[in-house]
Amino acid sequence: MTSAHTDTHCPYCSLQCGIRLSTTADGRSELTGREDFPVNRGGLCMKGASALELIGHPERLTTPLARPHRGAELRPVGWAEALDRIVEAITDAQRAHGPDAVACFGGGGLTNEKAYQLGKFARVALGSAAIDYNGRFCMSSAAAAGTRAFGIDRGLPFPLADVAEAEVVLLVGSNPADTMPPAMRWFEAGRDRGATHIVVDPRRTATAATAHRHLQPVPGTDLTLANGLLHVAIRDGLVDEEYVATRTTGFAAVRRQVRRDWPDRVERVTGVAVADLVATAHALAGARTAMVLTARGTEQHADGTDTVQAWINLALALGLPGRGTGSGWATVTGQGNGQGGREHGLKADQLPGYRKLADPAARAHVAGVWGVHPDALPAPGASAYELLDSLGTPTGPKVLLLAASNPVVSAPDARRVAERFGALDLLVVTDFFLSESARMADVVLPTTQWAEEEGTLTNLEGRVLRRRRAVDPPPGVRSELEIWHELARRLGCGQHFPTDPAQVYAELCRASAGGVADYAGITWDRLDAGEELFWPCPDPTHPGTPRLFGDRFPTPDGRARFIAVADRRVTERTDRRYPYLLTTGRSRTHYQSGTQTRRSPTLARAEDRMYAELHPELARLLDVAEGDAVRLTTRRGSTVALARLTDAIRPDTVFLPFHWPGANDLTSPRLDPTSRMPEFKACAVAVAAVRPP
Ligand code: SF4
Repeated sequence: MTSAHTDTHCPYCSLQCGIRLSTTADGRSELTGREDFPVNRGGLCMKGASALELIGHPERLTTPLARPHRGAELRPVGWAEALDRIVEAITDAQRAHGPDAVACFGGGGLTNEKAYQLGKFARVALGSAAIDYNGRFCMSSAAAAGTRAFGIDRGLPFPLADVAEAEVVLLVGSNPADTMPPAMRWFEAGRDRGATHIVVDPRRTATAATAHRHLQPVPGTDLTLANGLLHVAIRDGLVDEEYVATRTTGFAAVRRQVRRDWPDRVERVTGVAVADLVATAHALAGARTAMVLTARGTEQHADGTDTVQAWINLALALGLPGRGTGSGWATVTGQGNGQGGREHGLKADQLPGYRKLADPAARAHVAGVWGVHPDALPAPGASAYELLDSLGTPTGPKVLLLAASNPVVSAPDARRVAERFGALDLLVVTDFFLSESARMADVVLPTTQWAEEEGTLTNLEGRVLRRRRAVDPPPGVRSELEIWHELARRLGCGQHFPTDPAQVYAELCRASAGGVADYAGITWDRLDAGEELFWPCPDPTHPGTPRLFGDRFPTPDGRARFIAVADRRVTERTDRRYPYLLTTGRSRTHYQSGTQTRRSPTLARAEDRMYAELHPELARLLDVAEGDAVRLTTRRGSTVALARLTDAIRPDTVFLPFHWPGANDLTSPRLDPTSRMPEFKACAVAVAAVRPP
């Protein structure tokens, strides 16, 4: 029997499942899925269901830590000493090298208020252009392509429940059955109604195993595959010509571009059979309602923006976006608040409201809300990997404030990032566990975590949600809002940085007003009253916008834009030394760099070591058995994992989950020219058995 409860949301992924935290009459805490939250309706995956293990964890940081000098151990210090030391380093670095000598790097799990405040802190308190966040590694290609095609970037431009209304779903590079199992209810509901599901993935994932058709391309060839599907659609007269004529621009160039993407050529490049290409194009075109959903598998490439554009081109040619409930293109976001982070100014080139930092009108609006002159705002800075790669160089930042992110595990070519950390004058990490990045820090500041704080987040649908405090934080920790206020106060501008999340949120709403991601009408009071509103929502009487693109697209002429994109074969080539392809992704058990989930006893028991999926044919060739240690080596580094044999993967491909240190020592930092997304999903690799000495 329960005596009290708090309704909040999961600390992990972008589904943001509703969670109820209860205190039983005998004082125990209980966690259950919220039946009243429409996204998960009570369902939770094992990560969310075990999230209580993060509260009161024995490894929880509860006091600031600092190194007396480089090479010394981290030791507990008081808050005043830690903050004074940071401000001294900021002041010294900026005096010697200018404002950009201090950088900020955020995480996609920060609440909207923290994301907003960190962006403002960098630009107002520090006057620095050097800020970005790990969401750049997550959805930036889809964000860039969506903005280019539709004039807006909202992960799903419709509620997730619409998936159940689609007669055909083409799911590209997404594995919700493992990464967000409660979302599968909508896919299952569609299948129960007779829907056809087609999955594109180099692995026969748990999701692909449930699909009616599985296309298994060579990693890095998705753009060719999408163009090939469009070629078939044009060749076979499947294009919705009226839609193309009335709701889009630019199709003629795309039609010319895909003329040479003959199905047999596409089969040679991608490994997907012509019959599968033809059947997929006809299934999508023949349905009354159909969706193309993309995710990291197709987006995390050095041509990720163009690859997503190719999928959007296909959806537009078939007349799907804006056709009505159950049709469209969308990207399935990954990180808990990856959406909110980029809406509120964590990205190097963006201001709150999804405004462009380079746009004079945007600068004037946001500067007005911030009480500063527009000219005081810095120019756009470097993207996430470029920022990390410049740390400690003669022209790069000398001090880094790292908030809720663990790039020495999660960034591509992670060993290089660790080297750059070592070249800084001062590395400051705010987190609630001693992550691998925090272990390298000069100063570590302990923060509150999900169930200990108030705030808002924006899930993959653009639905704004309230995070609520259910338990008091342990003595000695502070929220990031308090930390940035204290730093700003020492820098002489504390009055600009309130610590109350409701106050910060109200300012965020004013800053976003009139922007693409307009929160002006999504007031704290409405959220507190239980409303879950989708942006844009321009005033407090507005109902919010669950579905976008009904009669026009938010582009200047109201039409969606086709853009011709060609395969540039950017993926690192295999050769005799590195003969296979490595692809990375998420497991069912862990989340992101594993800082939280590897510390959960339940999740660590379920999967305690990094594994590498190999096809049995490849294993035979290498004389490797299930559970053997294998060494994976790329042009950047080497790591060891336990072999997991499965015929669900292509024989030429190896899969590595990225939740453990080592996986990203291998991945490529080659960047997409538009989104600056690294090539996480494909690089050349050598594999060898590790023999006992
Ligand atoms: Fe949490 Fe995502 Fe699992 Fe839902 S699917 S419980 S949001 S990790």
